[in-house]
Amino acid sequence: MTVADLVSDGLAPAAEAPLLERVAQDFRLRLTPQMKMASLGSEGVARQFVPTREELVERPEDMADPIGDDTHAPVPGLTHRYPDRVILHVTKTCEVYCRFCFRRETVGDTGHLPADQLEAALAYIASTPAIREVILTGGDPLVLSARRIADLVGRLAAIGHVDLVRLHTRVPVVAPDRINASLVEALRQHPSVWVVVHTNHADEMTPEAAAALSRLADAGVPLLSQTVLLRGVNDSADTLEALFRALLRLRVKPYYLHHCDLARGAGHFRTTIAAGQAIMAALRGRMSGTALPTYVLDIPGGYGKVPIGPTYLAQQDGAWQVTDPNGRLHRYEDPARG
Ligand SMILES: *Cc1c(COP(=O)(O)O)cnc(C)c1O
Ligand code: SF4
Repeated sequence: MTVADLVSDGLAPAAEAPLLERVAQDFRLRLTPQMKMASLGSEGVARQFVPTREELVERPEDMADPIGDDTHAPVPGLTHRYPDRVILHVTKTCEVYCRFCFRRETVGDTGHLPADQLEAALAYIASTPAIREVILTGGDPLVLSARRIADLVGRLAAIGHVDLVRLHTRVPVVAPDRINASLVEALRQHPSVWVVVHTNHADEMTPEAAAALSRLADAGVPLLSQTVLLRGVNDSADTLEALFRALLRLRVKPYYLHHCDLARGAGHFRTTIAAGQAIMAALRGRMSGTALPTYVLDIPGGYGKVPIGPTYLAQQDGAWQVTDPNGRLHRYEDPARG
């Protein structure tokens, strides 16, 4: 996909083309036909995939590796930051390139993890019994062929201590045709495969995306979602309410709302943490707990993910002060223990 394609598809004005060419030298462009159509009808979708001149702006806080993937890599392609789970970066390719991506410096570089590195990563997992969960990511793991996924998931199933395999992917939403019978069969090579769908706006939920998610749910694959809080895309309680309600209808449990990372050239997408907390507090007042994700920050530098949602609890005069969903304060005392 080129800047000229964006202009001829009506996604970018011709006058912007020279600046967008500069953006395209730094960061990849890619949209699927489904997201091209959705972008034409929705600002909230377009801003995620269509480059703008704002990406040329670098801010002092921008970082090349905002979440510190490289600081916990025992072997290439593997991130082991928490004791019981690892991230396996099986490819650097994606079906779409998101303008705010926290791995935007590395996605799109080459194809799949080379076979020798994959073997080394599997050997590390097999020899580290503390690892109970393997998270496949990238890039997007579901750009791999069903045959490769079946092989990989089958090999992980053969390692006794790997209780579950989790895939983090945008594919069911942005390239729903890929979720076909052979892919579903590939996922079944391990008895406990979970899929976490990355989606940021209800306008991404085309009928094809809804059907793809239903195929996974019907196959018994538990579905979670992760969303990035993005200024100008979904930074309002109404927009996120529509998304989370759409997900629940499709049997997807909202899991994480990520505070936007410090990726280079993505400063225009960042909100403040206070803005995110206000949105989460508003949602708690109006939605079922099943709809509410945990609002998290990946602490820059590779120090881990922590919840940063609104707090309802404070200590006062030797007791707790609790805020209810309507903002009223209540006193709660722990029972005395002898
Ligand atoms: C986010 C992340 C995980 C997964 O964390 P969960 O809280 O289990 O979803 C695992 N490893 C790394 C390095 C991560 O950044
Ligand atoms: S699909 Fe994920 S990894 Fe790929 S560009 Fe988008 S956010 Fe980044």
